[in-house]
Amino acid sequence: MKTEPAFDLARDLFDKLATQSFDGVGITRDTYGPGEQAAHDLVRAEAQRIGLEVTTDAALNLYAALPGQDRTAPKVLVGSHLDSVPRGGNFDGAAGVLSGLAVLAGWRKAGFVPSADTVLVAIRAEESAWFPVSYIGSKAAFGRLDAAALQVCRRDTGRSLANHLLEFGGHPEVIKSGVAALDPARIARFVEVHIEQGPVLMGSEQAVGLVSSIRGSFRYRSATISGAYAHSGATPRELRRDAALAAARLITEMDDIWSRRAEEGHDLVITFGRLSTDPDEADFSKVAGRVDLSIDVRSAHATTLNLIETDLQDIADRVAKKGGVTIDLGTKTASTPAQMDPALIEAIRAESKSLGIPVRSMPCGAGHDASVFAHEGVPTAMLFIRNRNGSHNPREEMEFDDFMEATRVLERGLALPVTNRKDPR
Ligand SMILES: [Zn+2]
Repeated sequence: MKTEPAFDLARDLFDKLATQSFDGVGITRDTYGPGEQAAHDLVRAEAQRIGLEVTTDAALNLYAALPGQDRTAPKVLVGSHLDSVPRGGNFDGAAGVLSGLAVLAGWRKAGFVPSADTVLVAIRAEESAWFPVSYIGSKAAFGRLDAAALQVCRRDTGRSLANHLLEFGGHPEVIKSGVAALDPARIARFVEVHIEQGPVLMGSEQAVGLVSSIRGSFRYRSATISGAYAHSGATPRELRRDAALAAARLITEMDDIWSRRAEEGHDLVITFGRLSTDPDEADFSKVAGRVDLSIDVRSAHATTLNLIETDLQDIADRVAKKGGVTIDLGTKTASTPAQMDPALIEAIRAESKSLGIPVRSMPCGAGHDASVFAHEGVPTAMLFIRNRNGSHNPREEMEFDDFMEATRVLERGLALPVTNRKDPR
């Protein structure tokens, strides 16, 4: 294949996106707001200019198709999201859309016609920072957005999702009826490119990661440990019901479990991101009567999540008994791990090898639209681009050379032959 992705175009669009979505501190492309819309307008105009077939669905996801040789064959999809968190960075989401656009623009320029229609998808509303609902755009595309989500209000505007959709020409009534724009059986594969949000590739020789699975999770966002406030000087050890001590025990015992389960070979991360005594009642001279904390457990495997859930219950019971406190874990939220397609991963790995671009296998710790596609039974792969300083902040830093490497691997992944699939899950 004598083609070259349109890197100049991608570079130019990164610059334009950064300029139009700069908020004074970072990058803001608000979900179903002017920021996200402007990004969609930019990508749409460019896709039309290079002659792709552009459509949108009821949720305003943008599709830009390069027609293939066999227009009836299952389509190859590529893309990511264009919205950002408030004061985020320029690359989270946009890198995946511009990577796909660069490949299609290169193919168009070279007159290369892929075997099947190859479609860039700019997905809406991936960041749940605006509406507290996950994967609004991709779920709606598959006709699977819960109708109740349409009434959920955006955190800053207080207006409903339906209201925001209508403002930009979306069709909440179609979403509500469950009509799907995408049929999993008619999709040969989906590939999402995304900047890595953790530090693994930064400390590695490889600029490109090949995701094996997207971790699922269970979370207790507002757990409470209740003991009894007491005078720090006057209350003997055996009469204390110290919530702070119980929290410390809970955390260290969970950390021991993490270490043990990891040694047994489990993929696992455990985080206590919020931890506080009550600022109104706690004091340096008081035994703490209450601690609020969050517990976030993630793994690539549902069996591991179940195991750790049992471990957590056992530890909470033991810590509560030992410390004379009560532990209320509160409401649980959970997501299911998503496995990337092993055959597709192997094919992409072989292509990257022939390009001389080494890729690093790794699980993905954060949620992405790719997990929605995988759960729909679409053979799915994700490529990570090395990135400094994490994501969701203005200091995201992706080297353009690394973007180019990932895009070259993506191009090969999109050009793989399309076979007619049967029996989607
Ligand atoms: Zn993202």
